[in-house]
Amino acid sequence: MATKITEECINCGACEAECPNTAIYSGGTAYELNGKSFDALSADFYYIVPDKCTECVGHFDQEQCAAVCPVDCCVPDPDHSETEAGLYEKAKKLHPEKNIAELSPANSRFRK
Ligand code: SF4
Ligand code: SF4
Repeated sequence: MATKITEECINCGACEAECPNTAIYSGGTAYELNGKSFDALSADFYYIVPDKCTECVGHFDQEQCAAVCPVDCCVPDPDHSETEAGLYEKAKKLHPEKNIAELSPANSRFRK
């Protein structure tokens, strides 16, 4: 499932630069997907775009936002439940220019 940011976010901004999919935006900032701009999903707190979050599958062995968040408010979003295979396909679609490596313990938390 995608990761989400809860209202416990203190808007420190640490997570934004860590996301390999540029899925994280500050509150009130419009997000970009497939060359189009969309309204912010949160006015007050940093937020994650579910269509861009792969739980870091395809890139890292754990969710990078959760790893750096000082208040542990990056958590699984039960409203966006996805399989490892689906997340991997999403990662490849988000980065058509990249050769996303085959899944392994190094780039999928499902394999650790
Ligand atoms: S889990 Fe990974 S892909 Fe999803 S928002 Fe966090 S850093 Fe980005
Ligand atoms: S690292 Fe955590 S507290 Fe900081 S902006 Fe991201 S979600 Fe909010």
